[in-house]
Amino acid sequence: MALPVEEWRLCAARRWAALEPAVRERLAAASLHDTLRLGCGLLRPEAEAAALSRLCRRARAGKEPAAARFYREEGNRLFGRRRYGAAVRLYSQAASHELPGCPEVSVCFANRSAALFHLGHFEVCLEDIARAESHGYPDRLLPKVLLRKADCLLCLGRLQEAADALSAVESKIAMDGIMTTHQTLLKKLSQLRIKIHEKESCPEPAREARDDIQRKSEIWEKNHSISGASSSLTLNFDIERGRHLVASQDILPGQNLLKEEAFVSVLCPGESRLLQDSSETAWDTRVTNADLYCHRCLRQLLASVPCRGCSYAKYCSQNCADVAWEQYHRTECSLGALLLTLGVFCHVALRTVLLAGFAEVSRLVEWSHDDDKNLHNLEARCKHPSEAPDTRTGTRGIPGCNDDGQYQSSYQAVFNLLPHAEKHSPEHKFLCVLSVVAICKQLQEAGLEAAVLNQESSEKWSKPKTCENPSGELSPELKIMAEAMLRHVLQLQCNAQAITVMQESGSGDGAVVNKKPVRLATAFFPVLSLLNHSCCPNTSVSFTGTAATVRASQPIPSGQEIFHCYGPHRCRMRVAERQQLLSQYFFECHCQACLDELESDVKSVVSMRNSFCCPSCWASMQGEDMLRCSNEACAISVSRESLSCRVRDLQQQIKKALELLRDRKADQAIKMLLKCQMDARNFLSPEHLLMGEMEDHLAQVYATLGKWQDAARHLERSIEIVEMHHGPSSVEMGHELFKLAQILFNGFAVSEALSTIQRAEEILSVHYGPQSTQIQELQEMKTCLLELPRSILQRT
Ligand SMILES: [Zn+2]
Ligand SMILES: [Zn+2]
Ligand SMILES: [Zn+2]
Ligand SMILES: [Zn+2]
Repeated sequence: MALPVEEWRLCAARRWAALEPAVRERLAAASLHDTLRLGCGLLRPEAEAAALSRLCRRARAGKEPAAARFYREEGNRLFGRRRYGAAVRLYSQAASHELPGCPEVSVCFANRSAALFHLGHFEVCLEDIARAESHGYPDRLLPKVLLRKADCLLCLGRLQEAADALSAVESKIAMDGIMTTHQTLLKKLSQLRIKIHEKESCPEPAREARDDIQRKSEIWEKNHSISGASSSLTLNFDIERGRHLVASQDILPGQNLLKEEAFVSVLCPGESRLLQDSSETAWDTRVTNADLYCHRCLRQLLASVPCRGCSYAKYCSQNCADVAWEQYHRTECSLGALLLTLGVFCHVALRTVLLAGFAEVSRLVEWSHDDDKNLHNLEARCKHPSEAPDTRTGTRGIPGCNDDGQYQSSYQAVFNLLPHAEKHSPEHKFLCVLSVVAICKQLQEAGLEAAVLNQESSEKWSKPKTCENPSGELSPELKIMAEAMLRHVLQLQCNAQAITVMQESGSGDGAVVNKKPVRLATAFFPVLSLLNHSCCPNTSVSFTGTAATVRASQPIPSGQEIFHCYGPHRCRMRVAERQQLLSQYFFECHCQACLDELESDVKSVVSMRNSFCCPSCWASMQGEDMLRCSNEACAISVSRESLSCRVRDLQQQIKKALELLRDRKADQAIKMLLKCQMDARNFLSPEHLLMGEMEDHLAQVYATLGKWQDAARHLERSIEIVEMHHGPSSVEMGHELFKLAQILFNGFAVSEALSTIQRAEEILSVHYGPQSTQIQELQEMKTCLLELPRSILQRT
């Protein structure tokens, strides 16, 4: 997903292999500037460029009226079956394929408003009605929509506006002359009249305003030299660790250390986007990230606003659509398919230079050329320790800091992240340079060069100029932008930060919400990038929209370095797997967890707890390829291969059970899961993660049946295993306890629910802070339980 699609990677690899050895050698040794200069001539229009444009045809980011029709009809079908949530998404798909201002798009919005009304999203429904009206909704259909508007306003308690909307409908009907088709409308109208009258005569008691509860804001003392960081951190530099952050005072768990808005972020398209083949009739109705989150602010979408130019970009509001257009999307819009084909890293690189602006990009690119000569850049410094910045001058000499010694979340800081140009394989650099050149050539061909260079205001953007440069040679300005993009693509391998959220999974109609972490976007966070990696980090990172928050997950004494985990955590992988994964960042991890596992005989948490047991005496099995029972009296031995095979079979069975649950065959799902458990006990150790997973699934099935006690019993066992694997104060533990709290809450197990809420609150507030939605939900549950009538409390 981060890299280009496989076919393009292969195409670049073939070109690389066919290059003359001398050219390959020159490319391998070239600076970024020279790599780009050489790369420009190596993308041949009739070969690589043509292959790339063939690949782009699969990505389908343009508007297709036939697709719009298909999605709208699918939406109507599901609406008829009362599957309103799915209908909303299909109408959104349909709207994204319609041209703005055409009557069809207004029909999409109007239909979507109906589904939203059924879902009880009245405010959003009103927005869609307004959109339908502004996009020229057909006059003859208007009364129906206006009635819905009145209905919505009524539900929201806005009586005067509801009455006004009603009179508008009435005069509209009167003007058109009453026709038979309006009979049902008239009936509805009189019903609404009665409802309004009733509401007026017996006003509801004023609801307690919940919003005015002022939550105390967290104590936050700003750091004067690092933007977004707390004053308890300092920025240091040494040759071994590079730039890094250190605690300058004792830090408590849960303490806020850093809050940073991404300099740039690009939504990851999600899995099924490019998997479909390019048959002309069937459109994909599967939902991906691209349909679920705003392409600018990453907020969850309910009724998306489509881009005016493409079917791919969708926004939470007209404002996000306008700002995105102004800042970068007017340039990206027509390149949608190319950017999907070349992957998220290339897309982030382009958006980074667009956000920075040509003036700043060219200033820093030129500065980097001087720097190359003066051996001033950080990598050179690492090889020449005598030139390391003088620590006595504070942060002033540290790369990325401005003249006042401040490190800010700016383009300068992004530019100074290490590209590790000399450590990437020459072949990989070649793929990156070809991709970047392809983007710039397409920008030039589409007449977007002036937009890229910020030389024209957006109003002139309706008609891009046609290509003025028939030779196909990139202009010097575009070459500067391309060089910066190449640097960013290379930087991303080490510095890309994934923005993740906990996404609801499964059927979604249960009372218990199952969530799993999902990668939403790829971003540059120049301040967060200062943190080095550890496989047992002392912080926890969470995201709200495009902002990252780092909190201490344990006490950090003054002087200790602040770490976060780039992915390979000691609880998820053995040391060998971790080191393998970390090699992409060009370093060997020397964190405490790695040292312990490598140097002593301390077994990894993972291998200890994902172990097998003897089929005959249940003692633990030991060994590598051939496992032997640890009980000497028992001579049983089994090959690891055959055990792995049994694990895979078991996973298949579990998957089938979950499919049964999705088809609402809960009883069969339970039977199947219980059978899986029986099988598993014969060869998996009781602490094996899969044992926990099965308990978790059983809890889920019982919860859908409303059998809360059974659900709680199974979940408690799953929690024991999660605790063993991830530790008692891990975020994973917090999520499990949250689920248990929901189950106990639903089952009116008041005292148990209250103590579980307490535990979940303690853990989750360390990871997400006291104001997070998780904590708010827990507090609402608590309030609700405490307000229950005594009669119920006494029963439990
Ligand atoms: Zn948005
Ligand atoms: Zn667009
Ligand atoms: Zn490590
Ligand atoms: Zn045995």
